Amino acid sequence: MTSLTFKSLNERYGRQNCDQLLQDLAVRLVDLLPDYVVGGRIGADTFAFLIVHQPDHRWVSVLANISKGLLGTSLSVKFGVVENVDHHLAVSLTCDHAIMALERIKKAFGVDVVWYNDKLRERQHIENMILESMETALEEHQFTVYYQPKHDLRNDRTGGAEALVRWIHPTLGFISPGDFIPIFERSGFITKLDLYVCEEACKQLKRCEELGLPMVPISFNASQLDFDDEEFAHKIAALTDTYGIERSLLHVEVTETACAENPEHVIDLLTDLREHGFHVELDDFGSGYSSLASLNMLPLDVMKLDMSIIRQASELDDFRIVQSAIQMAQFLNLGTVAEGVETQDEMLKLKELGRGKIQGYYYSRPIMREDFEAYLAKEA
Ligand code: C2E
Ligand code: CA
Ligand code: CA
Repeated sequence: MTSLTFKSLNERYGRQNCDQLLQDLAVRLVDLLPDYVVGGRIGADTFAFLIVHQPDHRWVSVLANISKGLLGTSLSVKFGVVENVDHHLAVSLTCDHAIMALERIKKAFGVDVVWYNDKLRERQHIENMILESMETALEEHQFTVYYQPKHDLRNDRTGGAEALVRWIHPTLGFISPGDFIPIFERSGFITKLDLYVCEEACKQLKRCEELGLPMVPISFNASQLDFDDEEFAHKIAALTDTYGIERSLLHVEVTETACAENPEHVIDLLTDLREHGFHVELDDFGSGYSSLASLNMLPLDVMKLDMSIIRQASELDDFRIVQSAIQMAQFLNLGTVAEGVETQDEMLKLKELGRGKIQGYYYSRPIMREDFEAYLAKEA
């Protein structure tokens, strides 16, 4: 059991109130689970209870409501449940499994109970394999960078590309970035991978120049953790210098979520990037909790409209939201890229709406280096 950052609760409500809160919670738990065997605190704000098996799962929904009414509405108590405990395993390992399950819902608003099950066990196994092999994978160049063209509607030519990483694992085979990026983010390895992809993008720009291909900017994805590195802008500047790349040709894609936690710090970092000559693109705008404030507040060059917005507009045959977003970006002097454009209809609608750039399967999927070069060569 854990309450979200108990430290911040202590600061907000005072230690005494929070001690009382723990006691109230304990009383509720004892009422709810009269035959629990043993319980206690196992770490910072994490508590563990060993409970006699309850064949009836109704108690779980009661558990989920256990903090209701205590200390305001902001309190969220989350539970990781391990059933059919393996009695040959050390108790600490069973606790680890519950915590592992908890990790999955830590940031999920409104989800308070999670079960450790076979699916999670299997996921954990794969996650361990990924964690064990990622360093070697980087050394052995198992990561490949694909490029997805961004089409410029103003002149009907390619106006850029996004570098997207691919991993062909020697035993697991192709692993989708959606599966390994979150693991790398949790482990911190993502910062190494992002720099690797950035370097590959620089090499690609150099190759385009050497091959006499049209020079279009290439963007790479930065993660929240990259922002913890004060030297980030300096490091990528060193890479562009090594390959002799004009810095405005390298774009950095950042997401709003990455900016949410510490906006002042992110503003400083993005300013630093732009002062170095790099362009900044705000990725996935319109997904999740987007805020108009961030568009205005963050030092940006481009707004990338999330594909969910395009999909929805297409389904409803109503592009007014897309139109407003594009108009707003234009008002703020930002370039626009609409992501996930899959059909001619969508392309034509976007063409009507402001002639920004579009990226999506309609023009091209992400393609390997050689294919990207051939793609550009057609326009040379
Ligand atoms: P993203 O940055 O939003 O990248 C766009 C994703 O949408 C890509 O998936 C791309 O293949 C997909 N896509 C593009 N056009 C279309 C379309 O028309 N229809 C549909 N259905 N999908 C389209 P991908 O390559 O699987 O990447 C998924 C996510 O993984 C990326 O989302 C990004 O968040 C992350 N990612 C990929 N490479 C890197 C990287 O080098 N570093 C970091 N930090 N994240 C990366
Ligand atoms: Ca992106
Ligand atoms: Ca995106």
